[in-house]
Parts: sequence; C-alpha cells; structure tokens
Amino acid sequence: MWLRRYERQVTVPGWDQEKLGRAHVAVVGAGGLGSGVLYYLVAAGVGRITVVDGDVVEESNLNRQVLHFTSDVGRRKVESALEKLEALNPEVTLEPLAIELTGENVAVLGNPDVLVDALDNLKSRLIVNQYAVENRMPLVHAAVEGFQGLITTVVPGRTPCLACIYPDPKERGKFPVVGATAGLLGLMEAAEVLKLLLGLGEVLSGRLLIVNILSWEFRNVRTKFRRSCPVCGGREDG
Ligand SMILES: [Zn+2]
Repeated sequence: MWLRRYERQVTVPGWDQEKLGRAHVAVVGAGGLGSGVLYYLVAAGVGRITVVDGDVVEESNLNRQVLHFTSDVGRRKVESALEKLEALNPEVTLEPLAIELTGENVAVLGNPDVLVDALDNLKSRLIVNQYAVENRMPLVHAAVEGFQGLITTVVPGRTPCLACIYPDPKERGKFPVVGATAGLLGLMEAAEVLKLLLGLGEVLSGRLLIVNILSWEFRNVRTKFRRSCPVCGGREDG
C-alpha cells in the first residue's frame, strides 16, 4: 500500500519517502493557508504533523478554508481538519492543539523539523518567529490579501527573521481574501516544506516572493536584516 500510494512521487529525482515519513512539521493555523498546506503535506506522507488552531469554524471562513465544510460551522477547526486529513491519509500521525499561541505556551510546538506560519495576524506570527529563531528551526511564512500574496523562508542564523521584515507591526482588522489566493500560497508553502525536508532545489531563504495574481507578476525581493533586530540580532549586510 505504501508504495502504491506514493508511487507517482518516489520517482522524483532526489525524493526520499522514508525521510518524509520520519519528519515532523508544525503548521500554525488551520484556515485559508493552512488548508492548502495541510492537505498536501498529509497527502505527501509527512510522518508527523502538529496542527495548531484555537478557532471555531464560522460561515464566513468557507469561501477559502476548504478543510472545513458547511456542516462544520461551530466546530473546532482542529477537529474539523483532523477528520478530513485522517480520511485522506491514515498513515500520518496528526497532533491537534486547540489553542491560541502566546509567548507563554508557544513551547508546545516542540521541536519540529520545519515550522509553518499559516496565520492571519502579525502578533501570532511574531510569537512563532521568536520561537523559531530561539530554537533554530526553519520557518516558512506566507501572507495573503485579496489577489496578492507573499512567501519567504526564515532560516535562523542565516537569513533575516520576520521581525526584520515587519519592524512596525500593525494589525489590519478584517481584510479581503480570495480563496484561490490563499490556496495558491498555501500550496507554495507545502512545496517549500517538502523541499526543505528533502534538501531539494533552492528554498526562499533570504528572499521574499511577491505574487500578484491579477497581473501574474511574480517578483523576488531580497529580505534585509534590521539593524539590531530584537529577535535575531540583525546584521548590517547579511
Ligand atoms: Zn530579525
């Protein structure tokens, strides 16, 4: 069964299915970005996935958070997500955490090989960023608004961190999100995680990929260290 399930990916040059099966990934957020990330990491057979989300499914989530169905409105997102993901691939060990991360409880993330930021607010993103930097774990970050998205990978000790990229955190309240944008960026995060775990290709370390779906313009921007960044220490010319 193992070989049959993965037969179309194990022939990719450099692929190591057993390595994926031993990997642990923590995905923070089971919403619009998280739906894409989780479906595809589970389908690919990543061995162990921690899913963190303290929210309950609302009707207004359903235009983009395709892990959750109409009948899930009112349920905890992690419960709704686990049901679909277990049905998709029972070989994956899923660890649900129905909590909102804070500076005090963030250590529940443990020691994953890769952290995925699939959040929708900067406050929580910066908590996860600090944990990633302190514990030297790669962090895949994406954000979406309307028809635009961006994605980067923080590699602590090598690249600027999210506190370098967002020096002046401002929350934006409710902003528009097109479901397909969240889906696209979520799938890009999933692909980035697989590349990190398998050591394949070039990851987005030290660069921010800005995606404009309306113009189909994909732009790479180098991320810059913030001078004496309070989280990673920063550097003048990384
Ligand atoms: Zn920094």
